[in-house]
Order: sequence, then C-alpha cells, then structure tokens
Amino acid sequence: RRAQDAVARHARLVPDFPSPGIAFKDLTPVLADPDGFDAVIDALASACTGAELVAGVDARGFLLGGAVARQLGVGVIAVRKGGKLPPPVIGVDYDLEYGTARLEIPAEGIPLAGRRVVVIDDVLATGGTAVAAARLLTQAGATVDAIAVVMELQGLPGRRFIADGVGPAVRVHA
Ligand code: IMP
Repeated sequence: RRAQDAVARHARLVPDFPSPGIAFKDLTPVLADPDGFDAVIDALASACTGAELVAGVDARGFLLGGAVARQLGVGVIAVRKGGKLPPPVIGVDYDLEYGTARLEIPAEGIPLAGRRVVVIDDVLATGGTAVAAARLLTQAGATVDAIAVVMELQGLPGRRFIADGVGPAVRVHA
C-alpha cells in the first residue's frame, strides 16, 4: 500500500540512538514528503473512523494527530510530556526501560467524558507510551477506541502488551 511504500522509501534508520545497540527509526522524512505525509495520514485516518476526538502523543504524534483530526472532521488534543501544561492537569507515570516518564492532559476545559478518542503516535515499541496515554484518557472519562501508529517495531512486545488486556486494540498502519 501507499503508506508502506512511502515509509520504505523515506524512513531513515539511525544506528545507536538514543543509546548504543538501539536502531532508531526516523519517520520525519516520510512526513516531510508531500505524498508520504498524505499516504500516512490517509492510512491512519482510515483506522480511526468513528473517533470523536484525536489524541496526539508528544511530540511526533502532534504532527500526525492534527492532520488526522482535520481529515476526520474532529478536534485534536495534545497528550504532553510532564511539566509542559499549565495547571490543572491530570497525569500518568509509567515505566520506561530505564527510569520512568510522565504524560499529562488538561484537567479542565476539554470535555472528555463519554467521548470516543483515538490515540495517535508514530512508532509503537514496547507499547508503554501508547498504553499510558490510553489510560490517562480513560481516567478522564473518555472511551479509547484504538491506538493507531505508523510503525510497529518488530520483535518488541508492544502489540502483545496491549492485546493482553492492558489497553485497547491497536490498529497499525504502514
Ligand atoms: P514505547 O513506549 O516503548 O512503545 O515507545 C514509543 C515511544 O517512543 C513513542 O512516543 C515513539 O515516538 C518513541 N520511539 C521509540 N522507538 C522509536 C523509534 O525507533 N523511532 C521513533 N520513535 C521511537
């Protein structure tokens, strides 16, 4: 499919980033290409039908989430890393391979109760980030319909982690 071709053509593999032994998949050149961006947004949007709100995960999920929301005709919310948003916020702490991380959303001003939300990010690795975002939105009263990502890293347990009942279904594209 089109998105798959675009990723194959434009994605960059960065060895030993962010630490030795890790092969980082850089999808930003895919998004910088007009056809690649169009293909990826189309693929993600087709996995998100029925969503009433799109949640983009800091930071590349913002680029994707905004465009997907516009295509679906719905609004967008930024799920931010800890410490960026003005109070009041609600947050979730989660474990990384080394250390912990925190995601936050505003506690006021955005109606979330009972709304169908989709979580968007570029890459699913362990799944910890996407599941934390989904948990946070669920805690705020939303129903998380799906987690949609451009690329799932093979050999990492992300999909199984989510499929094991930790979070909602994943729909992977490209
Ligand atoms: P996870 O929580 O282990 O699933 O990691 C996913 C988060 O880290 C997402 O927000 C991704 O943007 C980022 N990430 C992890 N590995 C990569 C990669 O190889 N390329 C781009 N982003 C990555």
